[in-house]
Amino acid sequence: MSDDVIRMLIRQRIRDGRLPRNRVVELGYGSGIGQECDACGTAIEPDQRMTVRICADDWRTIRLHADCFQIWDAERSARDSEPWA
Ligand SMILES: [Zn+2]
Repeated sequence: MSDDVIRMLIRQRIRDGRLPRNRVVELGYGSGIGQECDACGTAIEPDQRMTVRICADDWRTIRLHADCFQIWDAERSARDSEPWA
């Protein structure tokens, strides 16, 4: 999946609440264990880096590819400069 597609998915998930808009705290970091990425929806394979984060708002845990996390972090910080209609 290209970064552009992942970015669109992440924007959509931020809008519908499946991904947080606010700060998250890192719980752990390591190799994937085949669980679904909360950003792009595909499995995080053992040869990919995974970050586990807890949302400061509601204590929900999310698991993301390290790459997806970077995109999410950029998108949520960019949201103030773009319309989210
Ligand atoms: Zn992902």
